[in-house]
Amino acid sequence: MNNDLLVQFKNVSFRYENEEGEEQNPLAVKNVNLDIRQGECIAILGHNGSGKSTLAKLSNSILIPTEGSVIVDSMDTSDEEKSYEIRKTVGVVFQNPDNQIVSSIVEEDVAFGPENLGLPREEIRKRVDDSLKAVGMYEHRLAEPHKLSGGQKQRVAIAGIIAMLPKCIFFDEPTAMLDPQGRKEVMKTIFKLNREYNITVVYITHFMEEAVLADRVVVMDNAGILMQGTPKEVFSHGERLVEIGLDVPQVMYLSKALKQNGVNIDTDILYEDEFTDKFTALFGEKNVTD
Ligand code: ADP
Ligand code: MG
Repeated sequence: MNNDLLVQFKNVSFRYENEEGEEQNPLAVKNVNLDIRQGECIAILGHNGSGKSTLAKLSNSILIPTEGSVIVDSMDTSDEEKSYEIRKTVGVVFQNPDNQIVSSIVEEDVAFGPENLGLPREEIRKRVDDSLKAVGMYEHRLAEPHKLSGGQKQRVAIAGIIAMLPKCIFFDEPTAMLDPQGRKEVMKTIFKLNREYNITVVYITHFMEEAVLADRVVVMDNAGILMQGTPKEVFSHGERLVEIGLDVPQVMYLSKALKQNGVNIDTDILYEDEFTDKFTALFGEKNVTD
């Protein structure tokens, strides 16, 4: 009953090649097993250098495992003949939108991928329009990308990936270079693609507030997977996360501080809404006078 498996990492290790004569690099990814099912929304956490970006690049044959295998929709990424099909199935969006945008007009940029697929003109037009609508950038279709905000540019880059109709998109810290507004726009887009377009999404982030919004959180440490589970499960190991250089959502600190000061509030709260509900249950609704 594994037919909903979309991307499977099986005992995957990866080592970056070195110049001849130099000491060999340590493994960047070490013995990773990870199953990604159709429709899932997964967040990956881990401090710098823990192997997250390498994992993203292994997901669609940008990198090929040194050991083990990555299976995408029944295709092995080490099979060169499949790499084209694999890259259509799994797209990767990177941190810096400026490196991903190649054209001087938004809609041309989004058309770049479908044009390379050799699709008929009407099909390209439809995919470009649909993709721009999906990311909320349709009204900017004739804009020059360099005049857009960071969040808008990143959404154009995402449109360029969805125009290929992928089943899964890996986002490698898509919000790291954006301001708070841009971050919100991009996260909203990611969840929309997952919920409304049924695209499987995996996003790497160092913002705990973004991680708690996934169905499943995977924590990487030292080139491997340290733990994974629902946000509640993973953040119940808050102290361990802090030990490996990560954090917990701000509301967790707040509820812990309240608890320490004698307030009888749960300390596993991850979401602001959840905090507000529990807080008002304890202290009553705020009185609004005007
Ligand atoms: P993360 O995305 O979690 O910060 P990376 O996957 O980028 O981690 O890196 C994992 C390890 O691989 C790090 O030790 C990093 O220095 C190393 N590494 C990354 N890219 C290269 C490269 N092109 N050549 C050699 N080593 C690399
Ligand atoms: Mg990285």
